[in-house]
Amino acid sequence: RVSIVDLLRRPAEIIGADNNAAHSGIPLPVDLYRPQRENSHGVELGERKALQTLTSAIAAERKASPAINTSTAEQTNAVITAAQRGFKAWNGTPAAQRAAILDKAADLLEQRRAHFLALLQSEGGKTLDDALSEVREAIDFCRYYAALGQQLFGKGETMPGPTGESNVLELRGRGAFVAISPWNFPLAIFLGQITAALMAGNAVIAKPAELTPRIAAEAIVLLHQAGVPETALHLVQGDGAVGAALVSHPAIAGVVFTGSTEVARSIHRTLAAKDGPIVPLIAETGGINAMVVDATALPEQVADDVVTSAFRSAGQRCSALRLLFVQDDVADRMIEMIAGAARELKIGDPSEPSTQIGPVIDAEAKQRLDAHIARMKQEARVHLAAEAPAGNFVAPHIFELSAASQLTEEVFGPILHVVRYRAERLGDVLAAIEATGFGLTLGIHSRIDDTIEHVIDRLQVGNIYVNRNMIGAVVGVQPFGGSGLSGTGPKAGGPHYLTRFATEQTITINT
Ligand code: GLU
Repeated sequence: RVSIVDLLRRPAEIIGADNNAAHSGIPLPVDLYRPQRENSHGVELGERKALQTLTSAIAAERKASPAINTSTAEQTNAVITAAQRGFKAWNGTPAAQRAAILDKAADLLEQRRAHFLALLQSEGGKTLDDALSEVREAIDFCRYYAALGQQLFGKGETMPGPTGESNVLELRGRGAFVAISPWNFPLAIFLGQITAALMAGNAVIAKPAELTPRIAAEAIVLLHQAGVPETALHLVQGDGAVGAALVSHPAIAGVVFTGSTEVARSIHRTLAAKDGPIVPLIAETGGINAMVVDATALPEQVADDVVTSAFRSAGQRCSALRLLFVQDDVADRMIEMIAGAARELKIGDPSEPSTQIGPVIDAEAKQRLDAHIARMKQEARVHLAAEAPAGNFVAPHIFELSAASQLTEEVFGPILHVVRYRAERLGDVLAAIEATGFGLTLGIHSRIDDTIEHVIDRLQVGNIYVNRNMIGAVVGVQPFGGSGLSGTGPKAGGPHYLTRFATEQTITINT
């Protein structure tokens, strides 16, 4: 294993062939895949204006015909039967061809970028920066799984064996795979799940979040236009009850789910209670994500990284920072700087390009967050309680708790909880993080290598970010996903993801 201290001392590597050496043994398709990097600075003024017009047009269209029909039980059953039939042909399509189709989907997403940006802004409430990184991530998923899938599914792996016998291990699709995705990444996670399942040879039945049906419907059209056969990819719209009906159907071969721990558990129970084949579940859920900041950290960088991690995307990322532990010697100054930086964030209409925090997803989410804020105002010390404009907006809040245990659940919004600790009680901090039961993301800000190494070794957390912000994992660069209450793994955008959508076959031939 590469020592963490070595990694800390090594200069950042340029993404490229060199990366392969550091990961020998893991198939990283770096020759075929490069993640994109872009932000709103790359969007021309003219394009921004056009985008605003497009966003308003889509918003008006949504108002005029708000409903997207929920699939009926009959439709859902018919779709599963059709997917089962479609599976055979799709699983038999050469991996190179499946990959070419996913690459084509990435090309189409690039061509229709403005349209998807506008959809993400009007239906998902995303700021321009967030929408851009989401489209980029969706494209990355298509290209990464296409590249990886060609390596994994392209040909069988010859196993060593006795003379006179050939042994080959092959990966194949499992069957009709159900993909249930969340509203917070209605394009990237939606397409990430689907493209992984398709690349592995499965037929897919996708059930997007009921709050973002249009983005999903258009993404499915795009995949069909790229060449995914209609029989291999199906869309089912509706709420949790529709998802539950899909999951309890006897003919499904697997489920991939991103959302709450509670729903993941109920899916798990439903699958376990069914007769017939044992159906695997891939679940990515939430977190009460922490960051530990000691007295050696650089205050300006901490302020910047905390604000990005806790408040960007209105805190509506499962990777977002919820619980900040600051060493008491520097706590007053750090909190003041963080609050100062947070106060500067521009909150409002997401179609306005300079907006940094858009609305939360709906009125219900706002109500839940407002109730939490009201409780915290009673129970905690208030460091920041910014004013939000009218509508479904929640402004950044910072509350200081006397103990981490006061935060008992994931609060999915721009609300940061701070706890002070004394240097000699770092052990208690790590125990408190462990006690949450989650293990998704963790931030560390320190310039002491031993402290960093100790924290990393002590905690079982999926994505650990040292001396930087803790959101925005890049496909193929920071494979994403956690353990414990945060999910089952494997990591999305990582080299092991596709294999979990597949089944393995060993073929032994007496030659
Ligand atoms: N992958 C995203 C990130 O690194 C978070 C995904 C989610 O919120 O489900 O920020």
